[in-house]
Amino acid sequence: MSNAVVYWFRRDLRTRDLPGLLAAAGSGHPVVPCYILDDDTPGEYRAGGASRWWLHHSLAHLQKALRNLGGQLVLRRGATARVLAELVEQCDARAVYCSRQYEPWADELEQQLHATLVERGVAFKRYPGALLFEPAAVQTQGGTPFRVFTPFWRQCQRLDEPRLPQPPARHVSWHPRPPAGDTLEDWALLPRSPDWANHWLELWSPGSHGAAQRLADFLGGPVADYSRGRDRPALAGTSRLSPHLHFGEISPRSVWHAARGLERAQPGCRQEVDKFLSELGWREFSYHLMHHFPAIAEQPFRKPFRHFPWRDNPEKLRAWQRGATGYPMVDAGMRELWHTGYMHNRVRMLVASFLTKHLLIHWRHGARWFHDTLVDADLANNSCGWQWVAGSGADAAPYFRIFNPVTQGEKFDGDGDYVRRWVAELARLPGRYLHRPWEAPADTLAAAGVTLGENYPLPVVEHKTAREAALAAYESIR
Ligand SMILES: Cc1cc2nc3c(=O)[nH]c(=O)nc-3n(C[C@H](O)[C@H](O)[C@H](O)COP(=O)(O)OP(=O)(O)OC[C@H]3O[C@@H](n4cnc5c(N)ncnc54)[C@H](O)[C@@H]3O)c2cc1C
Repeated sequence: MSNAVVYWFRRDLRTRDLPGLLAAAGSGHPVVPCYILDDDTPGEYRAGGASRWWLHHSLAHLQKALRNLGGQLVLRRGATARVLAELVEQCDARAVYCSRQYEPWADELEQQLHATLVERGVAFKRYPGALLFEPAAVQTQGGTPFRVFTPFWRQCQRLDEPRLPQPPARHVSWHPRPPAGDTLEDWALLPRSPDWANHWLELWSPGSHGAAQRLADFLGGPVADYSRGRDRPALAGTSRLSPHLHFGEISPRSVWHAARGLERAQPGCRQEVDKFLSELGWREFSYHLMHHFPAIAEQPFRKPFRHFPWRDNPEKLRAWQRGATGYPMVDAGMRELWHTGYMHNRVRMLVASFLTKHLLIHWRHGARWFHDTLVDADLANNSCGWQWVAGSGADAAPYFRIFNPVTQGEKFDGDGDYVRRWVAELARLPGRYLHRPWEAPADTLAAAGVTLGENYPLPVVEHKTAREAALAAYESIR
């Protein structure tokens, strides 16, 4: 058997609406589907613990989906360039197809692969599919990249609407004897002693069926009240599609067209659907920024922030990571993250503001923790989210907008359901003190079983003092 096409699965773990796989199928040559676990990926970009958990289950799902179509996913581990060269050799391949990725290291790798494969007479073809609009296709009138979201998104909407999703690749002529590979178990992606994710399959369904179900559930209910619901961390008011989108289990244009379809069927939903799609627009904007400003994961987008007087404080960083800052809303968010691999967007903004502005700890420490603990950890969204909150990003929040963790809690968790769920030791405190337990009278604390400094911490910093220190730090770089 010769002239095979290797389809290299990356962050596109689906069989539906996958242009590269359809092209491989359409080539008429036998297709060898593979996935490579590359531990040579630079440290900052290597999948964190929560992502590895997701990857295991997502690959298991993909293996099954391919088996149902008659194919067999070849799993290989090692440096991508070497492993792909071996595979090409072993199945006498004439081409390697894949979906494009946009991380700076991925772009370099793709260019290197292109050069080495083409030199050996093997075609290397990259296909779109991870985004609604290719980053280079969206430009200002002057031909430059956008730095502000609103005109970026307006310009995207002036372009042709994303194409309709393509049907699944059904008639693929799979290679009858694909080369051998590892088993998923060989890769030990799941946590062991301790298995901190042992309940996560009750929370998440990695894989494209799970993604389709999430989308259907969201469009069948919460989307109708999205603008309000998306600000209430205690409610299931958002889609929770982020890990599915990150791993490419569903294409963004499938989400786009399903939402537009709902809008056609129920025109009253239009505003809510637009709001939801504009959040997908923020995802596009992050990728646009990462494509045009590849240093964004490491360097502040706004240059004066290179001189920002960050503080090194491992003890306070640890308190933040463990959800032990003494501010209930911050602690609830950090514990939700640890227990579920997810945190509500409203709370992500608050905990990020607390780390960078109240504690003056560099956003990269926060981004690294998120990278390791989020199931949706995504270099573009994470780096841009952190920089946006820290004030150093493109189109960032004005620096002086320093979230007050007490009033944020009272505003977005007025009933206290979110804090009570995640900070069980405060569950019996009356609502008026829930977000400010240090103000509660001694007998109220005693009746609720709370001893500050013992079973719940006192605040690690005082809000007013921390705010003044942050503003002074900002003044020093203006
Ligand atoms: C400090 C910080 C770090 C973040 N890190 C990540 C990350 O690593 N991965 C990640 O996917 N998102 C990240 N976000 C963005 C956002 O919090 C999540 O995308 C969102 O909470 C996911 O929940 P959802 O799928 O229910 O969102 P929905 O409200 O249902 O939105 C739909 C989709 O739009 C995209 N989206 C929504 N909000 C944003 C946003 N602000 N920026 C970019 N895309 C967005 C996501 O793909 C999301 O799935 C971060 C935000 C902040 C403030």
